[in-house]
Amino acid sequence: MNAKQIMDIFQDTAYVRTGGSPEELRTAQYLQEKVSGMGLKAEIVPFDVPMANIREAVFEADGVQVACKGYLCAGSGEVEAPFCYLRNADAYSLSFCRGKIVMTDGYLRYWLYQDLLENGAVGFVTYDGDANYADRDIDQRELRSHVHNGSRIPGVNINAKDAIELIRKGVTRAKITLQQEEYTGQSHNVIMDMPGEIDEYIAFTAHYDSTSLSQGAYDNMSGSIGLLGIAEHFAKHPHRYGLRFVWCGSEERGLLGSKAYCADEEALKNCVLNINLDMIGCIMGKFISCVTGEEKLCHYISYMGDELGFPVEVKQDVYSSDSTPFADKGVPAVSFARIAPHNTATIHNSYDTLALMKGEQMEADIAFLIAFVTRMANAVRCPVAREIPDNMKEKLDIYLCRKRAPK
Ligand SMILES: [Zn+2]
Repeated sequence: MNAKQIMDIFQDTAYVRTGGSPEELRTAQYLQEKVSGMGLKAEIVPFDVPMANIREAVFEADGVQVACKGYLCAGSGEVEAPFCYLRNADAYSLSFCRGKIVMTDGYLRYWLYQDLLENGAVGFVTYDGDANYADRDIDQRELRSHVHNGSRIPGVNINAKDAIELIRKGVTRAKITLQQEEYTGQSHNVIMDMPGEIDEYIAFTAHYDSTSLSQGAYDNMSGSIGLLGIAEHFAKHPHRYGLRFVWCGSEERGLLGSKAYCADEEALKNCVLNINLDMIGCIMGKFISCVTGEEKLCHYISYMGDELGFPVEVKQDVYSSDSTPFADKGVPAVSFARIAPHNTATIHNSYDTLALMKGEQMEADIAFLIAFVTRMANAVRCPVAREIPDNMKEKLDIYLCRKRAPK
């Protein structure tokens, strides 16, 4: 794939495609066609995802309506209560949440939500966007099932500018009205197999869904194109190991596509390595790699970068992407990304468009990935130990909310 063909794909997929939406399925079909165009065959594999249609979402602060989006899958109901802004999430601050509608900073993650419940909050408010941007966009958030664990309170998301206003004015009471229909829908993985000379295989992943405001060019049509580039190369080049390409749906909703794939333990039996691409080929920024596996692989990738004159910053860690469910099932996983400085490219908002991308940089990043895969896929024996070291198991426990991060 050359730079022009790459930019054409960004152009063709310049639309929002959230997990479980018709637009996401349209992208799955588009990827399937691209694979067919290479003379290969991909399958679209459905999996269940929770869905909701919001009928009504109203947030009032001291009797004045504030623009909001209701949390999907947070149930239906109405709650009016004193308003409280939780600046710190320590035990003392949390003790003021009882019976209140509580506003928090950042994402509503598992432990914070559990803390809110335990301390008697009756509703929640989050905010996103950037007070310094011209827009007043509000992302469509959802109360993920692994976050609420069956205990739900209603919540809304508002814009950062309005969040600041609430605090500046000293709002004391709030009301949330939320009505929605919830149902089970489907998202899809696009899976393509390239058998090798042996039964064991390398699994490639990249998610193709986006968040609610984002065209997801950088995050992560770029990685999806990366997989197409790797597939195109290996359709014509030898590989001893089998190569399985999984374009994952619903990553942005909590890695749902890769979790669905990894739920099939039989499918993972012969998988020796997961290579995940999440955000490559942007104009600015550095190339990085994150290894959830033995530390030796970090050194290998770093040496290889030097050998090829392609610098890579490598660390051993858990990457917040589709590599994680693989590592959690004992398959060593490595993610690659080009990380742009935040003032040159942002994600999960309306600014993630093909304007962030450069076809030639995509080509260069894909060429490096092909060089890495060439070594791994033709190894006499895949050199990466098929086990997850204890320090990574600990990090997985924390990332997957089985264990609380030490304070
Ligand atoms: Zn991503």
